[in-house]
Amino acid sequence: MIRYYSYPADAEASLSAHFKVGEFVTYSDYGGNYPEQVPIDSDLIDILEKIFARFGCDCAVISSGYRTPACDIAVGGSGGGYHTLGMAADVQFIKDGQPLHSRLIACCAQDIGVKGIGYRCGGAEYWTHLDSRTSGTWFGDETDYSCGYSDFYAYTGTTKAEVYGDATDSAWQPSGSGNVQVTVDCNLCNGSTGRAVYVLQALLLSHGYGAGGVDGIFGSGTEAAVRDFQYQNALEVDGVAGKQTFGKLCGGEFY
Ligand SMILES: [Zn+2]
Repeated sequence: MIRYYSYPADAEASLSAHFKVGEFVTYSDYGGNYPEQVPIDSDLIDILEKIFARFGCDCAVISSGYRTPACDIAVGGSGGGYHTLGMAADVQFIKDGQPLHSRLIACCAQDIGVKGIGYRCGGAEYWTHLDSRTSGTWFGDETDYSCGYSDFYAYTGTTKAEVYGDATDSAWQPSGSGNVQVTVDCNLCNGSTGRAVYVLQALLLSHGYGAGGVDGIFGSGTEAAVRDFQYQNALEVDGVAGKQTFGKLCGGEFY
C-alpha cells in the first residue's frame, strides 16, 4: 500500500525496524527542490526488511528512493518510473561492515518474489535497484541495461549456499511463515549456551535483529540484539530473554 508522508516533518518517522522516511528522500536528487509529499509503498519496505533479515545485515543504505518526475528525468530516468511512485529504492546492504554484492541481493530478492530487480544498479557492484511492481517482471543488469533475465542465480553464477549459508532448515526459507511454539522455562542471558540460545538467535534474526551469528552462545552480540528488540517492542530493556521477549518474538509475523 502506498502511503504519503510529509517532508521534512516526517523525515525521522520509522517505516519499519530499519528504515525511516527521510532515507527515501535523497538530498542530491532534487537540486534543492525537496518534495513536500513523499509516497512510499509499504510492500517495498517489506521487501527491504526481508532481505535485511535474510543476511542479518548491520544496516542498509538507500542512494535513491522517491524521485519527483523532474528529478527522475534529471538522473536519466523517464520521469514516470517506479521511483516516481515511491515503489523503488536503489540500495546497498551491509553485513559485518562490508557491503553485500548485488548478485546476492538480486538472487535473494528473486526468491522472495520481487518482480523488479536491477542488478548492479548504476553499474555499481554493491548496489541493487529493487521495486515493488505487482505486474510484469523486470530483471535487468544495469551495467549495460540489458534485461529479460529469468534467473539471477544462473546469470550471475551464484549458488543457493552463498545466499543462505548454513541456514538450510526449511524454517529459514523465504516462504517460511507460520506459527512457532517455544516453551520457555528459563531466562536466557549473557553467558547462556545451548539449544534454546540457537532458537533465540534464529528468532531474533527472523525479525531482522542479527545477533552476530546463530551459534548457540549468548554473548554481547546476542545481548545487544535482545536489547534492540526489547526497545523496539516496548518491552523492559534488560537484555534477558524470558517469557515476555520470547512471547513477542513468537507472536509476530515471520519472514
Ligand atoms: Zn533504481
